[in-house]
Amino acid sequence: MKLYFATNNIHKLKEVQEVVGDSFQIESMRSLGINEDIPEDKQTLEGNALQKARFLYDRTGESCFADDTGLEVDALNGAPGVYSARYAGEAKNSLDNMALLLKNMSGIQNRKARFRTVIALILDGKEYLFEGIVNGTITEEPRGTAGFGYDPLFVPDGYSTTFAEMDSEAKNAISHRGRAVEKLAAFLLKR
Ligand code: IMP
Repeated sequence: MKLYFATNNIHKLKEVQEVVGDSFQIESMRSLGINEDIPEDKQTLEGNALQKARFLYDRTGESCFADDTGLEVDALNGAPGVYSARYAGEAKNSLDNMALLLKNMSGIQNRKARFRTVIALILDGKEYLFEGIVNGTITEEPRGTAGFGYDPLFVPDGYSTTFAEMDSEAKNAISHRGRAVEKLAAFLLKR
């Protein structure tokens, strides 16, 4: 089954394709000729995921899904949360975002955090939501080169390595997005 993913982020596309396996062919927006950034100006992950999926569905009429992810840090009252992408500014630069997070957490002992992903699926015109969470801690400095975004700063509970020190298979098996995508795939397979 072919399913469109409202993203042009190749890292996300690869992660999702790895999790759902051969039963689904995941296509990016680019394969539909859409290269622009979709607006995501809602105040919640659910709102943004729905906004992105509706954008693609309204444009193309194709069944599709979108995800929105936030890094929620306990000591920062859940920030950067829904603002994770533009935490350090509109440039959405991951190095700047990580630097600001480390600065805002300097001297803070409680490093507990979680990644939360919400996926919005629009299938035959109906909307569905799936959530995936992974709990962990924020490191004192970036470690590792794999992955993307805040991966070099996040150590999932039960591990000593950051997401950026794991290969994609190990990350997918426990990650927020991996868990949300597994729920999405299970839903699609039992239809
Ligand atoms: P969005 O879901 O693409 O809007 O992502 C929001 C922010 O979280 C961006 O800064 C991403 O780089 C970051 N992000 C999303 N998923 C991950 C992940 O799996 N690991 C690390 N950072 C992520």
